[in-house]
Amino acid sequence: MPHSSEPLNLIFDADDTLWDSNIHFLEAEESFVAAVTEAGIAAEKLEICEMVRRCELEIIKTQGYGRGPYLAALHNAVDLLTELEEFRALIKAEVERIGRRFLERRCELLPGVEPTLKELVKRHKLLLFTKGQRQEQMLKLERSGLAPLFSQVEIAAEKNLGAYLDLIDRAMLDRQRTFMIGNSPRSDINPAVKAGLRAVYIPHPHTWVLEHEELQSNEGVTIVTSFPRLLELF
Ligand SMILES: [Mg+2]
Repeated sequence: MPHSSEPLNLIFDADDTLWDSNIHFLEAEESFVAAVTEAGIAAEKLEICEMVRRCELEIIKTQGYGRGPYLAALHNAVDLLTELEEFRALIKAEVERIGRRFLERRCELLPGVEPTLKELVKRHKLLLFTKGQRQEQMLKLERSGLAPLFSQVEIAAEKNLGAYLDLIDRAMLDRQRTFMIGNSPRSDINPAVKAGLRAVYIPHPHTWVLEHEELQSNEGVTIVTSFPRLLELF
């Protein structure tokens, strides 16, 4: 790890790296399962979740990642779970209620994030690289109070190799001096390493199942157990 006085570029993921996010989806899903079951639709929890997952993957193709798309997926799941109009109406009203809370929720910063970033910004350049819908992500960043700490904020539809190469170009990043930091092997670590960056993986216990992936290589990847540990590296 280059512990020199020269500043590094530290690129941060946002959801489940800086603040809690996926836990809100899990809670919304839990409420959805309860609403479906209470409406009297005889489906196993696993079956309902499977249906939601399928609708989610379908919606992502056209609307991308985010809370709005997730609610649309829940509505579609209702249509697949029952053909009875009165059941549909009942559960969809509940989805609306779940949705209002889900969209309004403030994302809590993970422990130590704010003081750690405030320390790191004194000696390094901090960037934010997140995926999802621009409006949703910008609103969360605004509410977090962390926006002034980042010199650049980039939002991509998907964080794949191409997106990293674009970012490196656009921000004119020196690969040797740039680290990607995040909770998702699939979106933060593997494509960043493939693009020639080094990476710091901070596992989060509630990482979204669709972000799960094996680390493709340990080379250039450091694993830390909590956000404040970054101060030992940088
Ligand atoms: Mg994340």
